[in-house]
This record gives sequence, structure tokens and C-alpha cells, in this order.
Amino acid sequence: MSLKNYEFWFVVGSQFLYGPEVLETVAARAAEMAESMNASGNLPCKLVYKVTAKTNQEITDIVREANYDPACAGIITWCHTFSPSKMWINGFANLQKPYCHFATQYNCEIPNDEIDMDFMNLNQAAHGDREHGFIAARLRMPRKVIAGYWKDENVQKRIGSWMRAAVGVAFSKSLKVMRFGDNMREVAVTEGDKVEVQAKLGWQVNTWPVGKLVETMDAVTEAEIDQKMAEYESLYTIATDDIETIRYQAREEIAMKKMLDAEGCMAFSNTFQDLYGMKQLPGLASQHLMAQGYGYGGEGDWKVSAMTAIMKAMAEGQTGGTAFMEDYTYHLVQNSEYSLGAHMLEVCPTVAASKPRIEEHPLGIGDREPPARLGCEGKEGSAIVVSLIDMGGRLRLICQDIECVKPIMDMPNLPVARVMWRAMPDLTTGVECWITAGGAHHTVLSYDVTAEQMKDWATMMDIEFVHITRDTTVESLEQQLFLNDLAWKLK
Ligand code: MN
Repeated sequence: MSLKNYEFWFVVGSQFLYGPEVLETVAARAAEMAESMNASGNLPCKLVYKVTAKTNQEITDIVREANYDPACAGIITWCHTFSPSKMWINGFANLQKPYCHFATQYNCEIPNDEIDMDFMNLNQAAHGDREHGFIAARLRMPRKVIAGYWKDENVQKRIGSWMRAAVGVAFSKSLKVMRFGDNMREVAVTEGDKVEVQAKLGWQVNTWPVGKLVETMDAVTEAEIDQKMAEYESLYTIATDDIETIRYQAREEIAMKKMLDAEGCMAFSNTFQDLYGMKQLPGLASQHLMAQGYGYGGEGDWKVSAMTAIMKAMAEGQTGGTAFMEDYTYHLVQNSEYSLGAHMLEVCPTVAASKPRIEEHPLGIGDREPPARLGCEGKEGSAIVVSLIDMGGRLRLICQDIECVKPIMDMPNLPVARVMWRAMPDLTTGVECWITAGGAHHTVLSYDVTAEQMKDWATMMDIEFVHITRDTTVESLEQQLFLNDLAWKLK
């Protein structure tokens, strides 16, 4: 389901104490606020005012409905007046959807002449939101608290940003991953407990035979390939005379897409060690699938594939780019220290600074024909890299802030798409932190999704989150990891 098809329910807390007139005012204002925030263009999904809740039953009912409705990606609550929170306990105890507490107020200013005790009783969010906040804290609920004036653009954007993370939760819970072949032999970090991941994150990770893919490839028609070639020509610069290799990639892409769509999979993995019956490792084929929103992981890395798909879903409609990435090599010259990220072939062209080129080069690894692939340079700008690892008994999500630059050299003999960046807080400290936390060489790099969104997503998913920022030191990180380890053992 697309981002814009999800909605969030606005549930406003109150009680009968104030009389019907106040309750009518609260309801009218809540509807007005939802309408005005929708019209602002700052929310990626619709905010739907549902109810001014006054009883345990009303709250239990709306939570039950929210849990049941697949279009509802979360609830946003606010207390215009005071809403005694014991009546929220039964509802909250059963809430299965993401939850944001929006601590706002209808009026911006305190009206000097008008203010009296009636005004105080009607406009007591400062009072009501504290009672409301206590019960969520007491119940240890995963939640996002956003405070500020509801007409403020920055506040609206923060709610919009959280909505994207919550849609990432809905997407994750229904995500299916297609594995072609197993993980690359002997590699540890790409492994993981698929049962634990399904219970925690919802992913259905299953395998399909490469032989079935080859059969599907054989059934692709020349007319289907012609159509795909026209699509490639409209999007990319063709920089090879070997059209047959591009047509072979088109055949692979069409066949993989047919199998993914037949099973409802939005992510896939493969490995160069299991290409039985295939002439080429999918390069352009995987890259063009990623550009359409499918997640991908090389060497059987289904975890990074799923995370790529989720982060692409969170970033839907944004134009910065989100890609499967791999830390490859360093430039360690003092005061000019950079990481170079790339992959054997499969970097998503959404990160390209200019029109990607379809090129053909031999593969240094494996024993297949030289495949066509997209070459490009990554954009400049702030971004994050994200890695999900299996710690045994729990999952850890590691996120590092990075600053991407235009590659400082053109590397004319490097046959793959590349992105160059400066890791925070600096290359060597950043590497020490990443390695200390156990982060993988495979990551998802995104210019669109923010670290705050990944933290929100991890909170909603109830998994550990580690953030390496410009302020992180190795010592502080080691301390955090030590305490996290104890905390997660107790959880
Ligand atoms: Mn790799």
C-alpha cells in the first residue's frame, strides 16, 4: 500500500465534567485542526479526527477499530482539556498501532483581557497533557511525544516525519522477502534468525529456487524485452555497443519482477555463488528494480534488502535517494579522509548526481559473462547509513550520520556506481564506533530518511537503536552498548 493511502487517527481526550458546550467546542476545534493540518501540505498522510473521548468504553472502542483497520497507520492523541487517564488504561493496554502524543494547544497566545476561569478550564492542555503523558510512561508504551503549536510549520513537519516512520512500521509488518539462493558461504553478518525477525518485525523471509527464476527468464518474450529496453533508453545513457548484454539484463529484470509480484514480495536477495543456469549476475536488472522501490541485498543479505525496501517506503515521494550500499575502501590522507561506497554492481540509481550510464565490464569475482550495469556518481549532501544486525536474542539497528561529497577523483577505471562520504564524527572515530557496535559492511544509505525517523521506527518495533553522531566518542558508545546489553537481557 502506498504512503498516501495510509491515515492517522486524531483522538482527543476529555471528560463529562465540563458540560456539553465545552465538549462541542473541543470537537469542533479538533476537526478544524485536522483539516487545517491536512491542508498545510506538511503531512504525507491524512490526519482524521475521530472522537473526543470521555469514557473508558469510547477509548477501548477506538483502539479496537484502529487495530483492525489496515489503513490506520497510527493514532495521535491530544488533551484539549483534562482527561483522567485511568480511563485510557484498557484501550492503551491493547493498542497495536504506533502512537504519538501531540502536546499542543488550540490558542497560541494567552488573551490578556479575555482570560478567566472558564477560559482556563477549556484550554488546559498544559494540565491535561501531563496526566495523559503519565499513563503512557507508567504503561511503558513505545511512543513519540511532539510538543508545539499546531499551526507552526516546523511542528507539522515533525508530525509528518513521524508519520513516515509509522508507515515504515505498517510496511515492515507485511513485508515479504524473496531469497534467490542462500547467503554467501561463511559470511556471518548477513545471517540472522528469520523466526525472531518475523515475530519482531513481521518480515516473511523465504527462498525460491534459482532454477525457477531461470525458467521464468526463458519464458520472457522478445516483445517484453523490447518494451523494457525502451524504458532503459528513456532513463539512462547507453554507453556500450553490446546490446545483447543489456537485453539479457532486461530478461532477468522482467523475470525477477514477475516472481516478486506473483508472491507480493517487495524485497529480494541473491548471491553470485548461486547463479545456476544464469549467464550474468543481475546488475542493471537489480538496480532498475531498486529504482522502482524494491529492496535488494547482495550475497544473500536479506536483512539489508528488507531495510532498503522499508526505508524506500518511508521516503516515498521524496527525491534524495535511498540505496543498498557497501563500505568498500578508504582514502586515509590526513585532512581529506573519506569512505568510498559501492558494490560489485548493485547500487540504486536514485542516489545518482546525474543521468546514469549503462556500461558493460567484466566481473572480477565469479565466473559469469560481463554484465551490464548502471554507473554513476552519488550526490552531495547529508545522509545516514543504517545496518541491522542480529545480536543473538535481539536485533540492533545502527545508524551513522554521514556527509556525502562529490567524489574527489574521477576513478576512470572503476566500473561501478560510487558514493563518497565523510563519516561522523570523523573517519577513524566513526570507523572505531561502527566496528565497536558490530555494524555490517552492507548498509542502507539514505539522503531522505533521517536518524530521528530510524530511531522512531526502532522504538515502535521494540529493538535496540544505536546512533553515531558528530558528538559520539568511542568511550561513550562503549558505555551505552554495555548498558544496552544489560537492559536488553532483562527485557
Ligand atoms: Mn556485498
